Amino acid sequence: SYDGPRAAEILRKRSEFLSPSLFHFYKNPLNVVHGKMQYLFDEDGRRYLDAFGGIATVCCGHCHPQVVEAIIQQTKRIQHSTVLYLNHAMTDFAEALASKMPGDLKVVYFTNSGTEANELALMIARLYTGSHDVISIRNGYHGNAAGTMGATAQSIWKYNVIQTGVHHALNPDQYRGVFGAEGEKYAKDVQEIVEFGTSGRVAAFISEAIQGVGGIMELAPGYLPAVYEIIKQAGGLCIADEVQSGFARTGSHFWGFEAHGVLPDIVTMAKGIGNGIPIGAVVTTPEIANVLTRRNYFNTFGGNPVCTAAGHAVLRVLEKERLQQNAFVVGSYLKDRLKDLQQKHEIIGDVRGRGLMLGVELVTDRQLKTPAKAEILHIMDLMKELGVLVGKGGFYGNVFRITPPLCFSKEDADFLVDVMDMAISKL
Ligand code: PMP
Repeated sequence: SYDGPRAAEILRKRSEFLSPSLFHFYKNPLNVVHGKMQYLFDEDGRRYLDAFGGIATVCCGHCHPQVVEAIIQQTKRIQHSTVLYLNHAMTDFAEALASKMPGDLKVVYFTNSGTEANELALMIARLYTGSHDVISIRNGYHGNAAGTMGATAQSIWKYNVIQTGVHHALNPDQYRGVFGAEGEKYAKDVQEIVEFGTSGRVAAFISEAIQGVGGIMELAPGYLPAVYEIIKQAGGLCIADEVQSGFARTGSHFWGFEAHGVLPDIVTMAKGIGNGIPIGAVVTTPEIANVLTRRNYFNTFGGNPVCTAAGHAVLRVLEKERLQQNAFVVGSYLKDRLKDLQQKHEIIGDVRGRGLMLGVELVTDRQLKTPAKAEILHIMDLMKELGVLVGKGGFYGNVFRITPPLCFSKEDADFLVDVMDMAISKL
């Protein structure tokens, strides 16, 4: 039982002492006081199925005992900055991470967040190529610092930062895009950006394999191979932002880019890789990594023993509990059930995604694809009342994002779909 501060008091303090820019999803925001695997518990002990938190925080489940234990044990031994002395936690995790990467991707830099990882990746690409121009995809999200906010291509996430040398390419959006699922046609836009918007040489192309914040948009097939070739010809590096789609989530593969048959020059990751502990990483080849020896590169906490011990424990759990396979099996089952639900409810315009990274786009008119912005809020609130938490995203805010911890079961999938069905029916 919980006898700490209640939601009303927390809200009051939040409005008084925290940034007014903070937002929350629900009419009555949840005071989450405890988590266990795929479940969250509120101040009254009510249990909720967490079908969203897997992405931002916990890839293998809230408070997973093995990860918690690794954090406790490391904290008791030593927590320190990473740079001054040796400690095996960092090197062990780096080695384990490198073993999960294809090709020659085996040099790891640790950061504290996804933003930092992408900022570093962009800088490395600029240093390595000697070029400045970066191409990212419209509707993508890459972070909230100066460089990554420039690469992010949704006005709702951008302040008036000066975007030097960033170009935003057509989104290979299979649902709303002009070329449907024909990836190669969208890739021509990248070719034209190189030809007409740059000197012909670029530093980098950065993209997610499945846009997360953008509403679980899986890039049209054929797009990435074509773009990677164009970028290579222009002397640039290809950066795969795996902050959301990495770490076994897509089920069919460990990394999202692998489903597209491409090999990036740099891979970035964060969020779930620490199961709730802040850690990010950039992985690249020894040759590219060499550019950082030109100056001193320093990050006080990047790769600290506690965070890397947590990351290493996450990798072990993913393997031991065969969570990638679970993401594949349960994710495929859930997607099928959501597709069935689409047959029943006119408001579901699209069901998409891969593994346990699924999106349900709500529209008030299937032909016009009018975003059901208000409806989604009601349904989401009702689902919460019925005990299921889902996320929301997409440029119009009309897409359910279903990204649970990877321990999600078929029974959880059934409960989620039944609750969504009931909530939509009540609308
Ligand atoms: N890349 C992607 C694909 C993301 O979704 C996010 C966070 N939403 C980031 C980068 C930035 O990560 P962080 O919030 O840890 O800085």
